[in-house]
Amino acid sequence: MRPDAGTYDLEDVRRRIMQTQGGAVDESIPELAAADPDLCALALALPDGTLRASAQADVPFSVQSAVKPFLFAMALRDTDGDALERVGIEPTGEAFDAIKLESGTGRPPNPMVNAGALLTASLIDGGDVDERDDRILRGLSAFAGRRLEVDESVARNEHLLGDRNHALAHLMRAEGTLHVSADDAVAVYARACAVLVDAEALAVMGATLACGGVNPVTQERVVSPAVARDVVSVMATCGVYDGSGRWMRAIGIPAKSSVSGAIVLSAPGRLGAAVVSPPLDEYGTSMRGKVACDALSIELDLHAFGTAAR
Ligand code: GLU
Repeated sequence: MRPDAGTYDLEDVRRRIMQTQGGAVDESIPELAAADPDLCALALALPDGTLRASAQADVPFSVQSAVKPFLFAMALRDTDGDALERVGIEPTGEAFDAIKLESGTGRPPNPMVNAGALLTASLIDGGDVDERDDRILRGLSAFAGRRLEVDESVARNEHLLGDRNHALAHLMRAEGTLHVSADDAVAVYARACAVLVDAEALAVMGATLACGGVNPVTQERVVSPAVARDVVSVMATCGVYDGSGRWMRAIGIPAKSSVSGAIVLSAPGRLGAAVVSPPLDEYGTSMRGKVACDALSIELDLHAFGTAAR
């Protein structure tokens, strides 16, 4: 018999993972450097719309790179799949912000690294930056099942201080793969990273992908089953940057990590989940978040290739 996510003791997991020490909060912008290292929350969203949340699952944080699967999803939706011609889907084995494009094509290597997310954000419909921002925010809100907002000071600093993102956007312009201005691309991506979520909202976002593109709480179809499948597949192979292979072997749940210390999980047909704890390991993955995902994988039998309780 499979363990039951509906009765799983999230407070107990939270207590256990709080014992993990180490890691460091990201310092790329002042808001992230000031994050509370002891924030620790988990949430699960199940296909029947049930939400399970630990303490602090309503504490807001900027979504950062956990937004990338959803930008990819919206780009696939708005380009009718053509985004797959414009961005690669191969893991890089390199850091999230490596100044590197696919050799031969000049395309970003995949949508889960910064180059790819700068590009996918630029492919989302909108005549100008404001329209595109607005569509992204509405789309993310549909994934979350509630109205989300942008942290304006995070967005400003991401834009101002994101030198490597500016470099990547210019490189893609030079290669002819980015069709909006470099500054517009960075501005839109910076605002997307600055959207405020909490563990509960992020779990619902992951669940929407895990439920074939239908938000299990609102029942709204946000993207098609084909788009959801494509996105979850690329989360599985590229979602944890240069730690993706190790992640998939050990934890086996498609995931996306982020510098705010959040991890979003999509286990198709089973659940969406999110965990947040700001101290990061050397791959930019939340230390406690990883321990939590390990526990969820084993204790809820979520490894994609595991056969423990089946
Ligand atoms: N805003 C961050 C950046 O683009 C996101 C990186 C991350 O969360 O991994 O540098």
